[in-house]
Amino acid sequence: MKVIDHLRQSKRTLFSFEVLPPLKGKDIRSIYAGIDPLMEFKPSFVNVTYHREEVIYKERGQGLLQKIRLRKRPGTVGICAMIKAKYDVDTVPHLICGGFSREDTEDALIELNFLGIDNVLALRGDPIKSEPHFIPERDGHMYAEHLIHQIAGLNRGKYLYDEEQEAAPTNLCIGAACYPEKHAEALNLATDIAYLKRKVDAGADYLVTQMFFDNTRYFDFVERCRKEGITVPIIPGLKPLTNLRHVSFIPKTFKIDLPDDYALELVKCTTDEAVKALGIEWTVQQARELQARNVPSLHFYTMGRSEAVRAIASQLY
Ligand code: FAD
Repeated sequence: MKVIDHLRQSKRTLFSFEVLPPLKGKDIRSIYAGIDPLMEFKPSFVNVTYHREEVIYKERGQGLLQKIRLRKRPGTVGICAMIKAKYDVDTVPHLICGGFSREDTEDALIELNFLGIDNVLALRGDPIKSEPHFIPERDGHMYAEHLIHQIAGLNRGKYLYDEEQEAAPTNLCIGAACYPEKHAEALNLATDIAYLKRKVDAGADYLVTQMFFDNTRYFDFVERCRKEGITVPIIPGLKPLTNLRHVSFIPKTFKIDLPDDYALELVKCTTDEAVKALGIEWTVQQARELQARNVPSLHFYTMGRSEAVRAIASQLY
């Protein structure tokens, strides 16, 4: 079933979460260990992230360097098919522009269609570490908007280089990303929202936000989007901070502000356990307020760890 149909049919705030494919060489059971504890809360859908390859250079002697492309977390589509079959839950594979030509993208979409997966989250992806800014693949897409155009085209039976042929349309529900505190590269929030509107006009059925820790940022953002004519559901993304590393890494990496009262409590924490207990308490408080305002779903970023999300969900559902 499509995410948009789950959202339309429900009268209450749904529960959904996002998992990461295991690291290359790790057992698929590590995925089950992340999902099993959350299934009793009846998620409406489970997202699986996509991880682009990294480039490393290996010494080959005599001053020669070999360029090697490594994909550390392969298997997004296969994992989606497995989760759908094992848990009977809808899955949302993430699909990015980076590293994909338009033909690779079409192949991936055809695969989803054959597997009976009804959803996709369409993203640009970040630049790889060796690039100063995002560089699309040859004949690939520069922005998520263009990827969405391609998916929406396929939903109308428009395949590449096959203008003449009668082709079976796909029927994929398209999600896209949005940023209540603006995307890191955006000039400002106004331009970011203007581009966001183009993603929706291109065919995005709903949006999922980057994580945020201050609900007023989400409420203000939704209000601004509505004023700019973006009418699709905007699902809040939540992430509990659970260790000291998160505190220094997450706000900086994702360019997110922490509200004063939360930050002042966080700086008093000296152990991972203290950060985790506070993170759970803070996220429950955020989630309760969001539920009271009838948001479409609470979407939790697990980043491969589900204990904290479980502790939160058990207080909400
Ligand atoms: P876009 O919408 O293309 O926007 C990128 C930037 O370009 C923005 O600054 C925007 O303002 C600007 N822009 C957009 N359109 C135009 C245009 N037409 N002309 C000029 N400027 C434009 N990354 C992964 O690699 N894998 C994942 O699985 C993944 N999952 C994510 C899930 C969510 C919910 C979110 C919020 C992010 C996720 N990301 C993931 C990160 C995402 O790929 C990065 O944030 C990336 O830098 C931007 O992706 P986007 O789809 O928002 O890009």
